[in-house]
Amino acid sequence: MGTVYAIANQKGGVGKTTTAVNVAACIAEAGFATLLIDIDPQANATLGLGSQKDVEPNIYDVLAGDVPIEDAERDTSIELLKLVPAHPDLAGANVELPREAGSETRLREALHGVRERFDYVLLDCPPSLGPLTVNALVAADRVIVPVQTEYFALEGLAGLLDTLALIQRELNPRLTIAGMLLTMHDGRTRLARDVEREVREHFPDLVFDTVIPRNVRVGEAPSYGLPVTHHDPHCSGSDAYFELAKEVVRAGAGP
Ligand code: ADP
Ligand code: MG
Repeated sequence: MGTVYAIANQKGGVGKTTTAVNVAACIAEAGFATLLIDIDPQANATLGLGSQKDVEPNIYDVLAGDVPIEDAERDTSIELLKLVPAHPDLAGANVELPREAGSETRLREALHGVRERFDYVLLDCPPSLGPLTVNALVAADRVIVPVQTEYFALEGLAGLLDTLALIQRELNPRLTIAGMLLTMHDGRTRLARDVEREVREHFPDLVFDTVIPRNVRVGEAPSYGLPVTHHDPHCSGSDAYFELAKEVVRAGAGP
């Protein structure tokens, strides 16, 4: 049975998409059948894996109930990694979904049968706690929360944890936090070291050991449509994402 991970944080630019793409790639490289589902209308994960952002069918068609998810799965440059692309129209789902009672479980229903075919399913969420992210958290077993190692890192985390607790209570009792992930860490600055210490003190046992360094290669990889681990397998960013993928896999299959 596969495990479903949501990569979520309502803040933009904290490394959600980068983490979703690169962890998915590393896990697939390690021999696990992996599916990355892009549920952000900005479609950055879709583009970052070398796909176009206007292909059909896509996750919008799946959420609308027009096609089964199998039909929207596409191959990527990595053998065991498949992608369900996003589409700019997905922005409309934020308006349409709340109009229908019970639409929080739309993605969970769409994922029916997916756990039998994939070992890992990763959901790249948009930068909000709107209906699409709620759908992801209702469908997920675990959530990874990327936290940019900058001033204000802790800002908003309490709100996110409240939302997670609410979803656990009301909609998805099996949801657990896989961990917070410190991203874009610049070890040369005192600020980054202070923020890391503060986050670890505030959330003991909840922060991944692996820290993702700020690394030019990580930032430029999407422009080649590649995970950083393919763009430059030996840079510090690739090393870190390989380590993180090991932590994720070590946590074991199943919720
Ligand atoms: P989010 O999905 O949370 O909005 P992204 O993953 O798109 O965030 O990252 C925001 C920006 O920062 C992107 O341009 C991305 O390429 C860049 N970035 C992310 N992680 C790193 C890193 N470790 N080193 C350098 N640049 C990074
Ligand atoms: Mg993103």
